[in-house]
Order: sequence, then C-alpha cells, then structure tokens
Amino acid sequence: IERYEKINWLFNDIKDCSYQFRSTEYEHTDEMLTIFRNSFGLKHFRPQQFEAVNAALLGINVFILMPTGGGKSLCYQLPAVISKGVTFVISPLKSLIIDQVQKLNALGLSACHMLSDADSSAECDNVYKELVKQEPKYKLVYITPEKLNNSSKLRNVVMNLYNRGMIARLVIDEAHCVSQWGHDFRTDYKKIGELRFTLMPNVPCMLLTATATPRVRNDILMQMKLSVSETASVNKSAFKSAFVTNVQNNQMNKLETKLNNRHYMSVSMNSLPANNQQCVFFMQSFNRENLQYQVEYKTSNAAALEKISDLIKSKYANKSGIVYCISRNECEQVSEYLRKKQIKALPYHAGMDDQKRQQIQHKWTNNIDCKVVCATIAFGMGIDKPDVQYVIHLSLPKSLEGYYQESGRAGRDGSKALCVLFYNNQDRQRWLRIISAEIKNKNSIAYETHVDNVRRVAQYCDNQTDCRRAQILEYFGEIFNREKCIRSKMNTICDNCKLLETKKSKSIDMTEKVKFICNSIKHICLREDITLLHLADILKGSFNSKIVEKNHHTLEFHSKMDQFKKCDIERLLRKLVFSGYLKEELKVIKSSEIVACYVRPGPKISEIFARNFKFEFELIEDEIMPKKNSTCYLDYESQHSDDSDVEEILENNESLVKEKNSKDFNL
Ligand code: ADP
Ligand code: MG
Ligand code: ZN
Repeated sequence: IERYEKINWLFNDIKDCSYQFRSTEYEHTDEMLTIFRNSFGLKHFRPQQFEAVNAALLGINVFILMPTGGGKSLCYQLPAVISKGVTFVISPLKSLIIDQVQKLNALGLSACHMLSDADSSAECDNVYKELVKQEPKYKLVYITPEKLNNSSKLRNVVMNLYNRGMIARLVIDEAHCVSQWGHDFRTDYKKIGELRFTLMPNVPCMLLTATATPRVRNDILMQMKLSVSETASVNKSAFKSAFVTNVQNNQMNKLETKLNNRHYMSVSMNSLPANNQQCVFFMQSFNRENLQYQVEYKTSNAAALEKISDLIKSKYANKSGIVYCISRNECEQVSEYLRKKQIKALPYHAGMDDQKRQQIQHKWTNNIDCKVVCATIAFGMGIDKPDVQYVIHLSLPKSLEGYYQESGRAGRDGSKALCVLFYNNQDRQRWLRIISAEIKNKNSIAYETHVDNVRRVAQYCDNQTDCRRAQILEYFGEIFNREKCIRSKMNTICDNCKLLETKKSKSIDMTEKVKFICNSIKHICLREDITLLHLADILKGSFNSKIVEKNHHTLEFHSKMDQFKKCDIERLLRKLVFSGYLKEELKVIKSSEIVACYVRPGPKISEIFARNFKFEFELIEDEIMPKKNSTCYLDYESQHSDDSDVEEILENNESLVKEKNSKDFNL
C-alpha cells in the first residue's frame, strides 16, 4: 500500500477516514487479496483502494473522492465479487456501463447491464429471470438512474431481493450528478436518494466521484439522506451478509466481540442504529503533480490556432493530445486547420453518429493515423488513454470542475503533460449567452449554478496572481502550498508561479478592511442572508436596485472598497473564506428545495481581533492582459453583441442537447 501525505482540507467537517481501514487482519482479508490477484489480475493497490474495499466489506457507507483514473471502480467491484448477493451500480452513461461490463466479463466475473428502456427486451428479461432466482449468478448489475426511476418492474425485483437480504450494496458512480451545484447535474440522479431510502434503506451504499466541491459534497449527502461520520457504525445486516454468511445468528455476538477486541476496529459495533444513514469519507489530494497549467490570452481564434499548431509541431509532433472546442463547427474547423498543417487531427462531437465516434476514438486510442482529437466535451467520460501529453482548451470551459476533468485526461501515466487554456472575455460572454438562451427561468437554481460556474472559471483565467494549482484545489476545498508548485520535482511550475519572479506585484495591508468586513458580517448575518457575490457587489458600490432595496442592513458595506476591481474584492472574500475567517453555509429552503450559499462568520474569526493580527493581500498591476479584457464582471445583458454566434452554438452544441426530463446541459 502506498503511503501518502496528509492533506489539509479547508472544510474540517469532512475528513479522510481511510487510516481506519488499513488492517490486514480482517476476516475477509485473505479472500479479498486472493481475488484481487487472481480474478482481477492486479498486483498493487492504488492509494485508498485497499482501505475503501475494507470499509465496504465491513458494510459501511462510503463516499469516495478520487481523481479520474485513480481506480474507483475496483473499490466496489472487488467487494461485489466477495459479498453475498447482488451489487447494483448506477452509472450515468450507457457507453461507460457497456465498457465496464465487458471488462468484468473478460475477467470471468459475472456482471450484466439493463440498458434497454423496455422491460420486455431480451436483455432485461434475462436479467429479471436471474434476479428472482434464489442465488442470482450476477454479482454486479449496472443500471442507469432512468431505468430505476421508470421501471416499476425493476423496483419490484429490487424490493424482492432486498426482502431476501440479497442486495449487497448500492453503488452510485459519478455521484456529483446528484447535485444541482455539480457540473453535470441529472434530474434522474436526484431521485436516487429517495429511492434508496424507500427501496433499500439498510443496504450499504458507496458513492464515487472525481469532482466535488465542498458545496457539491454536502449537497450529495443531503440528497442521499446521509450524514457524515468519522467513525461510521457498521451496518449489522450488511456486515452479516458481507462475510459471515455461514455464521449462525447466535454466533454473531461472539464475532462482534472478537472484532471489537481488535485494535483496528474503531468502528463501533455496539451502537448499531437500525437505520444506518451515516457514511465515512475517503479523500485524497486532487493535485496532479505532473500537469503543467497555463492560461493564454486569446486575441483571436486564428492567433490561438497558430499558436496551437506551432506548439504541437515543435514539442508534440508524435505525441497524443486533445483540443477542446465549444461547438461542433469549431471541432471540424480546428481539425481541418491542423490537418492542413500536417498534424494528424480528427474531429469528435455528438453530431457524428456513434459508429463514427467510436471509430475516431479507436484510432486515437491506438495511435492509428490520429494524434489529436478536436472535440467537444462529448469526448470525455470513460476515456482511458494513459499517454495523453497535452490538453488544450481553445475556448473557456463551462466550469472549473469541468476544466479539472477535461485537463485531467492528460498525463494519466504519470509523465509530464501540458494543459493550456485559451481565454478571452468574449468566450465568457458567449457562455453566458448560451445559458441565458437555454434556461428561461432566470431565478432557477440551474441558471444561477451555470452562471456561477462560468464566472468561477473565468475568474481562474483572470487571476494572474495566485498559483493555478492552488486556485483549482481551493475550489475543491483543499489547501495547497504554492511552494510545492514552484519547487515541483517534475518542473511543472504553473504560469502564475513562473511569472511571480518577473511581474510587478504589490502586497497591500488589508488588516483594517478585513476587520471591518468580518465584524460587520457577524452582525448582519443575524438579520440578513447574503451571498459572497452579493457582498462583493455591495463593497464595490454597485447600485443594483435589488441590493439597495432588499438589504438595507448591508448599506454599511456600500462602496467600502470601490477603489478595487471587483474580481479582486471577490478574490479577497474567497481568501477570507479560505482562511476560515468567513465561511459559506448551505441553506436549504425546504418549500422550494433550493439550496443557497450564504456568508457567515468562519471558525477562525476570533483571530482577527487579536492584537497582532495582520492581513496582507497581493495585487498585481494590470499589464499582462489588455485592460478591456481584465474586467471580470461586465454585465453581460448589456453586452449582447452578436447573437448569430449563439444561435450557431445553440444549434450545434452538445452541451445543450436536452435529455428527457432534464432542463440541464448535457454531454
Ligand atoms: P476512475 O473510475 O477512478 O476514473 P477506473 O476505475 O476506471 O478509474 O480505473 C482506471 C484504470 O486503472 C483502469 O484501467 C483500471 O483497470 C486501472 N486500475 C485500477 N486499479 C488498479 C490497480 N490497483 N492496479 C493497476 N491498475 C488499476
Ligand atoms: Mg469511474
Ligand atoms: Zn503554481
């Protein structure tokens, strides 16, 4: 088992619990290791896999946060093979499901899927017939959330299995799809929590995702009706079925005592709630040491393309890479441009039929006459090519989470890789127009989420002060020390850290401002809910009527920082949250099911009033990006320049292909 360093998380309510499950003396250990080696054909566990498998086999609810490619699937597949009964896996994409089941079957493991909507289809019929048997042969059954929602027959079969104690586990892959704050919300995912609660409340569950901000994490828990525990209790029924199938009930107590006496059992066996709705977290750093992040200012698409082709030709002539584009047209144009430059490029987007797309993916994966894929985000989940050496974004991604995912497809083999993002303000407005055109209800949470996501990723591009890694990781609630980027062993220093040596930056003393803000928040939040953005708005001195009318309590903030750029004010506020002086609190408005995020005093607020408190804040002179583009917060409603562009994107963009029942953007 690899050892890894302890990570500091911004939000202390959720901690990594993997250290509790490192014993090699569980009842299941021998069998588990044998199957790991012989059936899965693997030699070494990747970080946290071993612990996660242990926790699962102990019947504990587990939430696994692991970067893409970290090996999340094994965390449930291995326990599924050992456990008595069937493990249901909910996954959002049919292609992913097919791929997983094929891989399992190739290993000789009994897994199946139910992809067809029709219960009468041969596929579903066969699975149903098997599941009602006393001992179903399938260990893993993959389903989409739509299937579970729409098929009452499936739900009946699930209940039948549940009553017979034949469901080993419920697995929710890509769990961030549950949350409306996530970058990939799906309506059908949202219903899983309720279904789990009504259909199989006592079945242990496992949630897996590669991207979840603190806000999304909390929301997932809430949707799934789970609470966090550092020492979640073992689910008795699951515990029994997991690995003591042959033990009589009256022997159970003896076994519990035996387990309790072992030092590693920090899990409580005595206080077993009838309804175990707690879960433990397994998290590891999201830092990708081998990725080098850069943001390039885009004067025009043509100029960016020239830079891209020069870069590929000079540094990556025979290497594989991805160029992400916003629209389908863009994919076609870019790949044509690159081909003209003798670069082996092919387009990939949802406008092509499945066969064509598979063909291109196959060529690229196997290095057959294709080195670069020019793709929309349709080219994403499930891509498992280890030697991608660069990922270039020709345009702004739609969220920082999305960016982390997409750029994260580089360097999966651990070798050095480059991630470049081309940015200008027009792209940001382009996204805002797309969102605006797509989501009619401007007060909806979907609208707010998407706008907020674009704003955060644009802010990332605009921020030339802070380390890129630190910015990305902070978004996921992880505290990252810039020194690690500057002194990275693989020389993958980010552009901002590199610039640090040359650019003009100044540190200003913000102590009094910070004291004022935090002190006022203490009083104001008793009377008024205020979001971070809203606060930044007021500090800047915006005369938005909504602000002035609704929040008379907040008038004392008004214009208190009007000499600063708004993006700097927001950066300051985020830094305060990050330092623990302020915090953002999720608040659920029950009637409307809306989750809002409000500013509150943070856990470390008292430090501010200490005599020696000092707060320095770094500002840089506006030199690197042209002035007109460095304003983060142009009001886009007044910026409607050319909507023909939007229409083209609306027609062509897969992000906007609607799923059944879903108003949200989609692959
Ligand atoms: P994730 O879901 O976290 O993105 P996957 O579960 O799809 O990652 O795994 C990524 C790849 O790593 C797969 O090809 C898988 O077979 C491989 N893998 C997982 N665990 C191990 C391991 N312990 N040793 C070697 N390869 C592994
Ligand atoms: Mg996965
Ligand atoms: Zn850096």
